Amino acid sequence: MDVETGVTRREGRYLMFMYRRGIEEGRRITTTLLARSFQVNPATVTGILRRLAEKELIEYTRYYGAELTEKGVAEARRLLRKHRILEVLFVNFLGYDAERACEEASKIDYYCSMDLINSICRAYGHPRTCPCNKEIFRDPTCIGGEDGANGDFSDHL
Ligand SMILES: [Zn+2]
Ligand SMILES: [Zn+2]
Repeated sequence: MDVETGVTRREGRYLMFMYRRGIEEGRRITTTLLARSFQVNPATVTGILRRLAEKELIEYTRYYGAELTEKGVAEARRLLRKHRILEVLFVNFLGYDAERACEEASKIDYYCSMDLINSICRAYGHPRTCPCNKEIFRDPTCIGGEDGANGDFSDHL
């Protein structure tokens, strides 16, 4: 479990999924969709959703589905930042294709510290998008010396 956020790796995968499908693609997040996507039964999904709701990361309405709270959005973005920065590394440094990069990033993103992610972010000039063209969310502590020098923080992402 993440000491700072109290989110387990599995819960984190649900948060990232909900952000991608729910916010980036505008789909409704139902128990059925989650069960199908994670290949688990609906009861398992319900249990995870209950824990996420207890942690105030989602709001769950029985006949509508799950929606991320503000806190849930922040956590999902933090995790997606790690995931997408790793994809940048794997594609640019190792020459992986986007799909393979995504697969490998999924295995380790949760465990990487934001310090490590920020070092990679700096090394690649603070990329704004991942290899599949999804947004890389900014970390406020990741401020590159080169970017800081011109005093323009507005386009540092
Ligand atoms: Zn990915
Ligand atoms: Zn950065």
